[in-house]
Amino acid sequence: MEITRSSIGTVTAPAEWSTGAVYLDVMASPSDDARVFAVNAHFAPAARTAWHTHPHGQTIYITEGVGLVQRRGGPVAVVHPGDRVFFAPGEEHWHGAAPDRLMAHVAVLQVDDKGTTANWLERVTDEEYGQQPG
Ligand code: MN
Repeated sequence: MEITRSSIGTVTAPAEWSTGAVYLDVMASPSDDARVFAVNAHFAPAARTAWHTHPHGQTIYITEGVGLVQRRGGPVAVVHPGDRVFFAPGEEHWHGAAPDRLMAHVAVLQVDDKGTTANWLERVTDEEYGQQPG
């Protein structure tokens, strides 16, 4: 057993893969034989990730606010606390907050052999973000 007290500072998501303010609190990090990576993420209103994929997919569980999610080629979907979204391995997608509401989610995934959590693509443009939810 190993207890990690609340001493790890909140991290601001790198600008390369985020638009707006995204704050990350790591919940679980991979170790020698464990590949689970989990993070509690807070998005300011209108903040979102860039387009990206996860080698083994990802589950997000919405805990606060109102969120938006989209897979490539699909409509923007609105998500609320208690909703859970699974993105398949290699599926291009983004997740973020609604324009006028913050959003928080827990994200759980497995890293690959190289420890990769995500492969980042281009940013989500304002035009893509502003699509009417389907
Ligand atoms: Mn993702």
